[in-house]
Amino acid sequence: MSKITIAIHGGAGTILKSMLTPELEIRYNQGLQDALDAGYKVLEQNGSAVDAVAKAVCTLEDNELFNAGKGAVFTKKGVNEMDAAIMDGSNLGAGGVAGVRNIKNPVLLAREIMLHSGHVLLSGNGAKEFALNRGIEQAPDDYFFSKYRYDQWIEIRDSDYYQLDHFEDKLKGMAHEEKKFGTVGCVALDLQGHLAAATSTGGMTNKRYGRIGDSPIPGLGTYANDATCAISCTGHGELFIRAVVAYDVSCLMEYKGLSLKEACQIVVKEKLVRIGGEGGLIAVDHLGNYDLCFNSEGMYRGVKTSDGENRVAIYKD
Ligand code: ASP
Repeated sequence: MSKITIAIHGGAGTILKSMLTPELEIRYNQGLQDALDAGYKVLEQNGSAVDAVAKAVCTLEDNELFNAGKGAVFTKKGVNEMDAAIMDGSNLGAGGVAGVRNIKNPVLLAREIMLHSGHVLLSGNGAKEFALNRGIEQAPDDYFFSKYRYDQWIEIRDSDYYQLDHFEDKLKGMAHEEKKFGTVGCVALDLQGHLAAATSTGGMTNKRYGRIGDSPIPGLGTYANDATCAISCTGHGELFIRAVVAYDVSCLMEYKGLSLKEACQIVVKEKLVRIGGEGGLIAVDHLGNYDLCFNSEGMYRGVKTSDGENRVAIYKD
């Protein structure tokens, strides 16, 4: 029997204590803790790492505070288009979905793609058709509507600018408690020693041309391999794609023999910083070691292990 470890994130970026009211901070911490507990419970009952990360990510997708599922940001056209992925470290199984609308829990569609589509990555209308055929739960446009997300988009919709959910400069004029942050992700090690990772996002506010980020693509924003680690990223997707972030961490472990922590530090604090890639990642290895690593002001994050560790955090330690 292996040790159990689960870690989650709810997005990284310019997240400062001065931006959150005490009430909002409590709500974020509670949202993170609820997701950790939900995923941990699956692991405790000898469930698989895949089921645990799916459960934790669903919990975050259902929480409108985070930029995924219900809380997804608006595109240039004023709609919500979501990306998600899941990966099973025991067999390198992977499923990703990009640019889908009206799917209540995109991570569940990603898992269905991994298990039943014969493909790895589906997008747009084809993904929607597959979801309908497989009975994946749909939700109407107004389920995804939030005035705060809408206001974020209104601020920049007439510009060519698109932004990370966690950037402050274009959000002037909105009360602090109205700002919301957070692509979501989870990594886990189960009792059988298997690893899994999942990530889900609405992407970047005002994105267009069917823009796809790093989150749904195995090896970029999401990766799991029992031989090395499980990773879920959050940050400026274009830069994370160019740096092949998640797989690079795994490669540094596999081919260079680095520890999880060393590999994460090199990729997040050196490689990404060199190209201006703001963000972070959560990672767990096959021994249950973990790292919650970011080069931004903050990252919504949490970890729970069978060694008794259980904590959530938002700002730099
Ligand atoms: N990485 C995500 C994307 O570029 C955004 C985020 O992590 O907040 O779509």
